[in-house]
Amino acid sequence: MRYRPLGRTGLEVSMLGYGASPLGGVFGHVDERDGVRAVRTALDLGVNIIDVSPYYGATVAETVLGRALRGVDRSGYVLATKVGRYGEAAFDFSAARVTASVEGSLARLGTDHLDLVQCHDIEFGDLDQIVTETLPALDALRAAGKVRFLGVTGYPLAALTRVAAATPVDTVLSYCRYTLLDRALADCAPGFAALGAAVMNASPLAMGLLSRRGAPDWHPAPASVRRAAVAAADLCDRRGVDIAQVALSFAAAPPEFATTFVGSASAGNMARNVRWALSEPDPELLRDVERLLAPVLGHAWPSGRPENDPPTERT
Ligand code: NAD
Repeated sequence: MRYRPLGRTGLEVSMLGYGASPLGGVFGHVDERDGVRAVRTALDLGVNIIDVSPYYGATVAETVLGRALRGVDRSGYVLATKVGRYGEAAFDFSAARVTASVEGSLARLGTDHLDLVQCHDIEFGDLDQIVTETLPALDALRAAGKVRFLGVTGYPLAALTRVAAATPVDTVLSYCRYTLLDRALADCAPGFAALGAAVMNASPLAMGLLSRRGAPDWHPAPASVRRAAVAAADLCDRRGVDIAQVALSFAAAPPEFATTFVGSASAGNMARNVRWALSEPDPELLRDVERLLAPVLGHAWPSGRPENDPPTERT
């Protein structure tokens, strides 16, 4: 495994992070034992940063992750969870709710402190509230020793930029914004770094679009993007390569990302993901895949309140 600094936190994190949303059944039913094995495999292979949220499977992912981490040396991994999102359309960034949320996460994860707490999908909230109420409430938990670092997550980079510019945050996480289908997060990375925030890249497989199984029904990508991803997967198949390999090795490469979170509840897939993240994509195949996907490159979808997601961000 290779490790990179997590911004200015002083932490060194694995360039591939474990994304725990599949443990909540987000991509389909998961046998808990398989999920536990996937987490343990990731840790055994050097992954040392884990991302979860109470939203994933309505707390199920945190509960399963807590079981997987039982007995593991707490100093050996960086544990990140979130506050503020609790359902498809259930957001509450109030001080009271996020404070209670952290307590719930601590209990489910079986720990007395969280290394990183992130405001989850801030574009669905009032960004002024995030700055003046949510982050200060989390800061109080930091002062109490329950939380070490604070961050924000979301899809529109404009919303993340606005909050990171208004108040110091330790990390910024966006998803599906640096993949074979989109490069926007790399363009914003220097700006976030200048603001003191580590950049974390999530969903290198574009939430399943860039895998043989394809995207789940709830996936927000437009039909044109879905079709192009299927064509790219077919092209890789014909060359005898899994598109997930091309996608992961591509997305995890840029050194300006502290880590790239991939989600899986399969130990076999996590072992492959670690290998692929550390490898270079075949240049010829990558060129052909990029050529095929060029017509839909950067075709982002709307997310959150219109005022937090300017259409100018979308091509
Ligand atoms: P992803 O791009 O990592 O894709 C996950 C999908 O790919 C799952 O269906 C999984 O089974 C499949 N997969 C994983 N490895 C595979 C392999 N080797 N071969 C074939 N298929 C494979 O998407 P994700 O899980 O949404 O993102 C990763 C993590 O990032 C999440 O678990 C979460 O922790 C984080 N994330 C955060 C936010 C947010 O904060 N708003 C949003 C998205 C993701």
